[in-house]
Amino acid sequence: MSLSLTVNLDDPVIGCIGEGLRLQAKARICSEQGADIIWYGHQAMPEDAPDGGRLEALPKSLTDAFPVSLLLVETGDPEEDIKWIERAGPRVMVWSPTRHPMARVQFPATINRGPLRISVDTAGRWPTVANWFRQKLDTLLPQGIASTLEAMVSQGDLKSKLTTPHQRRTFWYGLLDGPLVNRAHQMADDEIHGEIQARIDAAAAGRSEGEVYLVGAGPGDPDLLTVKALRVIAQADVVLYDRLVSKEILARVRADAEMIHVGKQRSNHTVPQDQINQRLVELAKEGRTVVRLKGGDPFIFGRGGEEIESLAEAGLKFQVVPGITAASGCSAYAGIPLTHRDYAQSVRFVTGHLKNNTCDLPWNDFVQSNQTLVFYMGLVGLPVIASELIKHGMPADMPVALVSKGTTPEQTVVTGSLESIAGVVERSEVRAPTLIIVGEVVKLRGKLDWLNR
Ligand code: SAH
Repeated sequence: MSLSLTVNLDDPVIGCIGEGLRLQAKARICSEQGADIIWYGHQAMPEDAPDGGRLEALPKSLTDAFPVSLLLVETGDPEEDIKWIERAGPRVMVWSPTRHPMARVQFPATINRGPLRISVDTAGRWPTVANWFRQKLDTLLPQGIASTLEAMVSQGDLKSKLTTPHQRRTFWYGLLDGPLVNRAHQMADDEIHGEIQARIDAAAAGRSEGEVYLVGAGPGDPDLLTVKALRVIAQADVVLYDRLVSKEILARVRADAEMIHVGKQRSNHTVPQDQINQRLVELAKEGRTVVRLKGGDPFIFGRGGEEIESLAEAGLKFQVVPGITAASGCSAYAGIPLTHRDYAQSVRFVTGHLKNNTCDLPWNDFVQSNQTLVFYMGLVGLPVIASELIKHGMPADMPVALVSKGTTPEQTVVTGSLESIAGVVERSEVRAPTLIIVGEVVKLRGKLDWLNR
């Protein structure tokens, strides 16, 4: 059992014994943070040593009077390293690449952006893994974040100006997601302070109006969320979500956000649409950041238009964040391109939802050649869809694929022809949600099913 902590040292003095490459890198990290560096036992400063260090003779003993807060040891000879580590004893903190239980100090991979320091720590096990994460995190940070946070340090305690947690959260998210962090590094200090002050005043006056984001969550695989969707769901005060949104995606919502399930199930609309519309309006009027999270894309068979219509009528602010629609997700993960120069020059997204056991659709338009048809909500109506297409002239051997739970680990794909598909599906016990793809492009799956290669 070990405990890993960060310790802040005042006026740190770092002693270096040896001059290995790793030691040099650690010495540089310490020097950049303002530590004094002493090189023991060198005639001259080691090449590439950070500026500002000094030389001293090797200490005879590492007693109480030994002035260093941290000893870095890399002599090139592990036995020699161990000798020094053991001489340092429990009183002096030691870092060394030579593994020894008394060399307890580890350097995490760090990102420094002004007062923000992000450390990635694998308990010294996998420096490469730590570095990989550091690089990934680094790309997420806008350049201006250092100057923005530096300006925030001189603002002092926010709690006296912004008294409620909601005000402070609104302020911080607004600041960190707002335009300032993208350009503060190119602005003068007083300009940065001016902008920050204006934001504090607005948050204090409660002028943080509610806002609704209508967000597409994609077809299931959480990696198919857009960068914007991820950012917005991490910011939400309240999230209204459908049955189709997977729990892996919901896990990315801010931990203390209120979660409201308004799930829709076939023939079992848990919350009627007009109540959802109304609820969005009420929540936004309370000044909250509301995310309406919908499967796929909100503007494709998602009734997203109706939801924001009510918001528009109430004069409330809203934004729409598109998502990957089921047709794109399922076709990609099933290896079925929706268009292809040889087979289909157009694609149609169709709702296969039955009303009174029939589908009232323009069947004649659907039987044109070189067109892919994608039926959403078509599982129950599949026999009707297949027989209507044949009746209106589509060849009975036209290939059909049905993708169930597309892009999730439970994705299954069954294929057949217009004539056979209803029977194949009936025997295969596929589960909703399912998407039906009709067209010559389905033949390409044999070659392009990358998921099962
Ligand atoms: N707005 C959504 C569609 C909502 S309608 C979108 O853009 O994808 C619901 C229908 O979408 C389901 O009946 C099913 O046909 C389809 N669907 C959604 N997710 C799916 C998935 N992971 N796999 C297969 N079909 C899916």
